[in-house]
Amino acid sequence: MPDYPLHQLIADIDRALAPEDFDAAARSALAAFDDLNAGMIAERKVALACGAGCAVCCSLRVDVLAHEVFLIADHIRREFTAEETDGLQQRLTSHAEAVLPLTPREHATRNVTCPLLQDARCSIYEVRPHACRRHHSQALAACQYTYDHPEDLETPAAHDRELFRTLTAAMRENIAAYAGLGFDTTIYELGTALQEALDDPAARQHWRNRHEAFIRASVTPTE
Ligand code: SF4
Repeated sequence: MPDYPLHQLIADIDRALAPEDFDAAARSALAAFDDLNAGMIAERKVALACGAGCAVCCSLRVDVLAHEVFLIADHIRREFTAEETDGLQQRLTSHAEAVLPLTPREHATRNVTCPLLQDARCSIYEVRPHACRRHHSQALAACQYTYDHPEDLETPAAHDRELFRTLTAAMRENIAAYAGLGFDTTIYELGTALQEALDDPAARQHWRNRHEAFIRASVTPTE
């Protein structure tokens, strides 16, 4: 596991000045999360049904923190061509038009394809958020059922419970690190928050000033 304990994350965020500093801390935390994930999968011999090119779960609502959104936005600004950015902006607009009129629960009961999905692959895979990294399945049939019946929120998940529980605890620790330093840890919906981050560079400064990062993005209630 990469040696990136929580106290190191907190210290790095606390002394971060530039966007690159915040992004570096977020990347290190994601790398440690991946290692935890891979280690548990090996230890528990979890038989994943997931594989490259399968994107059935990329129509679910994705919850993110602001620091994850800024990492993705910076990656897009750096790595995407003008043509790729134009295409993404169009998909983000369609996505926002579909999502913003819905309550989070209504969104959760519909398939709305993630605007970052391209040719059945994640276009920002290396900086995808914790929620996407935590998501896994041991039965493709269960994923397909969820896709075919998005209104059925009672379907038992096909994940490994212990793995999911441990990864969720790690995600909560990550959130607590930012919350402890006074940063906005509102749970935002990925597509609508990303559109705002790309459209409004001031969003990051609001967040750094310990204000809410996004004002138009869809918010997932925590209770
Ligand atoms: S960010 Fe990537 S992995 Fe996550 S839902 Fe979107 S396309 Fe899928």
